Amino acid sequence: MKLIHADIVYSEDREHLAVHPDSYIAVEKGIVKGIWPEIPEEYSSVPLTDHGDAVLIPAFSDLHVHAPQYPNRGLQMDLLLSDWLDNCTFPLEAKYADAEFARLVYDAFVDDMIANGTMHACVYGTIHTEATSYLLETMDRRGIKGYVGKINMDRSAPEDLLEDPEESIRATEAFLEKYSGNRNTRPILTPRFAPTCTRGLISGLGKLGRKYEVGMQTHLVESLWEAEQARLLFPECSCDTEIYERAGLMDNGPVIGGHFIFPSEEDIRIMQKYDSYAVQCPDATISVIAGIMQTGTLLDRGNEDRSRQRHICRSSYRCLHTGCPRCAAVQTQAIL
Ligand SMILES: [Zn+2]
Repeated sequence: MKLIHADIVYSEDREHLAVHPDSYIAVEKGIVKGIWPEIPEEYSSVPLTDHGDAVLIPAFSDLHVHAPQYPNRGLQMDLLLSDWLDNCTFPLEAKYADAEFARLVYDAFVDDMIANGTMHACVYGTIHTEATSYLLETMDRRGIKGYVGKINMDRSAPEDLLEDPEESIRATEAFLEKYSGNRNTRPILTPRFAPTCTRGLISGLGKLGRKYEVGMQTHLVESLWEAEQARLLFPECSCDTEIYERAGLMDNGPVIGGHFIFPSEEDIRIMQKYDSYAVQCPDATISVIAGIMQTGTLLDRGNEDRSRQRHICRSSYRCLHTGCPRCAAVQTQAIL
């Protein structure tokens, strides 16, 4: 049991801010027992940590972040997405074949996440299993709740970043088996995005999804170029999101689609059907001149209400919905 005194502020939902000035919060095994203006009699003997008039807020959550791109932040912000990938992203990601280089970057990345109050994150690694394992293990050891994905990619990338699809599936399965039972940071399937994955690779990942129920993160309709490429390479699908639905990747754990800037009605329908997350990344998409997700429009269509009514927290994975008691407990633990 812990008892903390501070000015306590958090959002109950997107419309309401809860403010408890000069108050006490009791937390037991990561679960909030209550918030009071005075210490209740029953907790009078619990050790108190007094932060005076400091503001206590829940830790931040980052649902889309590329750890290997950490050294690239702020660089070449005049490029379009495809040029950014070719000039910045891929040359840097190739360096993570060197585990020592990966350790240097990932230690700094995790240190800085924690220093800035981000204790929940859904993170991309690279295709490299050793480097990505080090990232996941470091986050788990440091207490960050969330997911790390080993990227899958077998086309439309430089030679040194292309995987053999069978080897990619084998390495991914070993990664899932090793870390699925972790307490803090768990693996998640991570096809980079449709243009960099063959049909065979996506379908192999779908089988792993059904077997391990670890969820999936990817990029969805991030730019007009990406959406067009996806339609060209998967002509049997009417939209980007349908590629993952057909592969069985939408219904086995949380689905976290980054950017979602140019969704068709069908993209939105499929995302709603599976209570998936569309992640707005305004800084990134302004920098690569892609566009801005229509967050307000999507929320007004009732996406948030649906997610609060029907959370998807099962024992095998952790959902990320704000209304879920299990995840609220996780969030509170992270503050401390
Ligand atoms: Zn991304």
